[in-house]
Amino acid sequence: MPKLPYERPTLRRLTAAPLAKFGPQAGPRPVAELEGVPVPELLARFGSPLFVLSERQLRRSYQAMHRAFGTRYPRVQLAWSYKTNYLNAVCRVFHQEGAWAEVVSGMELEKALANGVPGPQILFNGPGKTLADLRRAAEVEAIIHLDNADELHRLLDVAAGRPHRPRVALRVNLDAGIFPQWDRFGFNLENGQAWQALQQVAEASDRLELVGLHCHLGTFILQPAAYGAAAAKLAALALRCQQELQLPIGYLDLGGGFPSQNTLKGSYLPGPDAVPPLDDYAAAVADALLGAGFRPDALPLLVLEAGRALVDEAGYLLGTVLATKRLADGRRATVVDFGVNLLFTSYWYDHHISPVRAASGQTEATVLYGPLCMNIDVLRESISLPPLVAGDQVVVHRVGAYNMSQWQQFITLRPNVVLLDTQGQAHVIREAETLEYLQQNERVPAHLVSEQ
Ligand SMILES: *Cc1c(COP(=O)(O)O)cnc(C)c1O
Repeated sequence: MPKLPYERPTLRRLTAAPLAKFGPQAGPRPVAELEGVPVPELLARFGSPLFVLSERQLRRSYQAMHRAFGTRYPRVQLAWSYKTNYLNAVCRVFHQEGAWAEVVSGMELEKALANGVPGPQILFNGPGKTLADLRRAAEVEAIIHLDNADELHRLLDVAAGRPHRPRVALRVNLDAGIFPQWDRFGFNLENGQAWQALQQVAEASDRLELVGLHCHLGTFILQPAAYGAAAAKLAALALRCQQELQLPIGYLDLGGGFPSQNTLKGSYLPGPDAVPPLDDYAAAVADALLGAGFRPDALPLLVLEAGRALVDEAGYLLGTVLATKRLADGRRATVVDFGVNLLFTSYWYDHHISPVRAASGQTEATVLYGPLCMNIDVLRESISLPPLVAGDQVVVHRVGAYNMSQWQQFITLRPNVVLLDTQGQAHVIREAETLEYLQQNERVPAHLVSEQ
């Protein structure tokens, strides 16, 4: 027998797929299609990367939220939070389902109007309303959620010259047991600011019509009890308004902030195991409102401004592997064609990411990088994936909230966004950007235009 050539022994640290109690760890299951439409087909037709929104899931999430609250409290109205995803097609799905609009800028107000939402069904929040915004809101009879005393005074000026009293609600911030407390928006309850503002509104009731009280606790709130506490405090404030100021309160708006099923960075459990069911939130709110002491025939309307919880699940980001490599410390790294500029929420979430085809080979902890020439472009610090190769495709799940409004045009152009309708037909709802689009507002001064 010939002597075999010498081979240097190597040591390789097993960083993934150790035997767990139930056998070898499985990697993420491949996801080859979205609602029956093959992912490779979508990418071939619309390019990579690609955002996909499922109309069916948008409607399902809306109906689930409405059902959770509506089966426990008789008067419920949802108002779609525009900033969470203001692609018109998405907004229109929610408006078709019956949602009002919740906007936080003059631009969003115009968008809601253009989407056919009647002014009185637009709730105008935010700390940045300009004089022009207030005039426009009063003109179209949107409901203005007062954030601060300066805004109240500006609105009183605007109201002075108008035939109808602008309708307002007071944004209140309060201690519901959430830390850190969002006390920068609205008037504080516990220190008396909110009551003082309500007295001012009462004194100006010839110029303003108070119709509601509002409170938005924060975002991705994992404690249903906080909503119960907020509802109880708002309800008590509403009753006091009626009794002491003779101001009847038409609605209590508990804002948004309900979590999606995403996994927060640092969370021990995956999102679907860590996030309480919507029913728990609805039960906490309904119990508080029904026990607050309103006359049964005079229950205020309950308004909810859910954003994330309605749209996250419906969004997918599809992309393609550009390269793989080993880092200096031996870790596997994979570069895909979408970066943190498109997937803004990767700063907070450990997104669930699936390969499209079943790859053989051991899963391994991988760093997932985007294509930007920036060190911060890390989509996942460590994700267990089978050995992907250039050209392989991946699906990122639960990306519907905030990414398509907070995305940045940076280094690359933003890609197509398609809506899969309930029949599985794909519609482009935002076209991929072009260099021409990007430069259409640029101007080059004459002295920089070359003569040659
Ligand atoms: C952003 C925002 C919402 C939606 O918040 P989510 O956490 O996405 O549900 C609702 N109301 C107000 C006032 C907001 O600023």
